[in-house]
Amino acid sequence: MDRSPTPLDAATSARLRRQPRSDTKPEAALRRELHRRGLRFRLNHPGLPGRPDIVFTRAKVAVFVDGCFWHRCPEHSTVPRNNRDWWQAKFDRNTARDRAKDAELAALGWRVLHVWEHEATGAAADRVEAAWRHRVKSRSAGSHRDRTSHPGSGNG
Ligand SMILES: [Zn+2]
Repeated sequence: MDRSPTPLDAATSARLRRQPRSDTKPEAALRRELHRRGLRFRLNHPGLPGRPDIVFTRAKVAVFVDGCFWHRCPEHSTVPRNNRDWWQAKFDRNTARDRAKDAELAALGWRVLHVWEHEATGAAADRVEAAWRHRVKSRSAGSHRDRTSHPGSGNG
């Protein structure tokens, strides 16, 4: 973990102290909502690139809940006033790392989903559920391919 080369201004250090807590809240809400809908998943899968926050192992769907500040949400991201260049470089590295992890996961056959911490829980859960359903359906369709049934032959 790299550190700021010079002391931060009070506002920035206060925000950074708040950051971990405010990051986990939307994630917890999303987990509760997905659970309520009957979806089952694993958390912070250590064996996967980037340790996705929510992981559906069978459907191979990985979900990241991204904080607006660190992951540069287009609506809320700001650059701290002090050490602007240092922050900008750090954010650029973060974004590049995010994209690299996405590519790694995709190469391993995972569907990667990013949810912003500011997204409404219901809307975020809808997106996750849709991706999950799509994967479950297409995967089970693939595994039944060797069956010798003839759908649409019209006996009945
Ligand atoms: Zn945001």
